[in-house]
Formats: sequence, structure tokens, C-alpha cells
Amino acid sequence: MNPFSKKKLERTNEFNVPNEWTCEKCEQKNLTSHSRCSQCGYKRPENLSDTLNDCAKQLSSLVIEMMTDRNFKAKLIAMYVRNHMEDFHADYLSDEQMKELNPLIRNAIYTAIVDIEERRPVTSQLLYNVLLIPEYWEDCEYMDNHE
Ligand SMILES: [Zn+2]
Repeated sequence: MNPFSKKKLERTNEFNVPNEWTCEKCEQKNLTSHSRCSQCGYKRPENLSDTLNDCAKQLSSLVIEMMTDRNFKAKLIAMYVRNHMEDFHADYLSDEQMKELNPLIRNAIYTAIVDIEERRPVTSQLLYNVLLIPEYWEDCEYMDNHE
């Protein structure tokens, strides 16, 4: 792990972000990053979102600083992907499969960030991937799951 990210990430512990929540319906313990109960699909309680929002306010300047680190940026984007895949994961993928999929996604995002930011020459995989984007892909939409 990049020592820069590690050191900064350790500082996030100072803010007492709860790392798990207990499902009100089935009492299953779930990771804070999971917005639904892994056992019954019940939604994470709202008051936990408030706690997270308070933490976010205190953490924002640190997070902005960390964003200059590509490794951290890739991990953060990978966490968005993981969170937005949550329902799909619950329906179709085992925890084992997710474990295998997560680093693939994380490393692909990291590679894309490096290629894009360094404007790697057009002979690289950057151009290859540009050419692969299908016309039928809809424009991306902004998804706010913490409204
Ligand atoms: Zn549950």
C-alpha cells in the first residue's frame, strides 16, 4: 500500500466513523460501507447517514488533500462502484466473487486514471479503450444514494 494513503487513512480513524451497523430487522451486523443488510436487504438506518455526514464535514479538507494521490483516488472511485453494485452483489454475486472482483475494478480504475492524467500516447491502451466505447452506451447519470 502507498504509505502516503495509509498514513492519511489512519487519520480518518480520529473521527470515530462507525465501521458497522446492526440491522433492526434481523440483527445482522453490516459494514458501514454497505447501505443494505447483507442478510435481509433492509436499508441502513438514517441516523447513521447523519453520523457519516457529520464525519464528512470534519474530514472534507483531509479528503481533498488525499485526492491528489492517485492510489487513493482509485480506491475511492472503486468504493463508489462497490456501493452502487451493492444490490447486484446481494442478488447475484457471492462474497468470494466480490473479493475477486474488487481488486480487478480497483486496478482498472487506477490504470485509467494514470493513462488519462498522463495523457499517454495514442498508441497505448487509452486509445484502444476509447475505440471500444460502444455508441449505444447511454450518457452517465449522477446517482445520489445519500439523499
Ligand atoms: Zn437484516
